[in-house]
Amino acid sequence: MNDSKILKPKVAHSRLQAIIEEKCPRCRQGKMFEYPFLRVDKFDKMHEFCPVCNLRFEVEPGFWYGAMFISYGFSVGLLIVLGVVIYWFFNDPPIMGYIIPITVISLLAVPFNFRLSRSVFIHLFSFVKYKPQE
Ligand SMILES: [Zn+2]
Repeated sequence: MNDSKILKPKVAHSRLQAIIEEKCPRCRQGKMFEYPFLRVDKFDKMHEFCPVCNLRFEVEPGFWYGAMFISYGFSVGLLIVLGVVIYWFFNDPPIMGYIIPITVISLLAVPFNFRLSRSVFIHLFSFVKYKPQE
């Protein structure tokens, strides 16, 4: 059995895979977040530096403010999709039939939205180039 294969960290080969897996934009191996997605109490805790290539994830002060625009886009997209689904499948209910489910689902989506928007933002807007590690 080859032990070196086991120790090698998993590399996300495409940018899309790295975004979805929330991996470092430079090495695509190091995880950006300290805890798994399902740790709802600590979903927002990020590594300051990439555990593999030591890239500082907050590439400049206030960098993550930009991710709020991505997050806003996701929220509006979710709102539109839910609105259309409720309209068609529940036969245009009264206004509370939209407000309550949309509010609840939007709140449940916060951890997912927060992490994915940061991952999308650092991969598409940080100008960090992919440098495969040896
Ligand atoms: Zn890295």
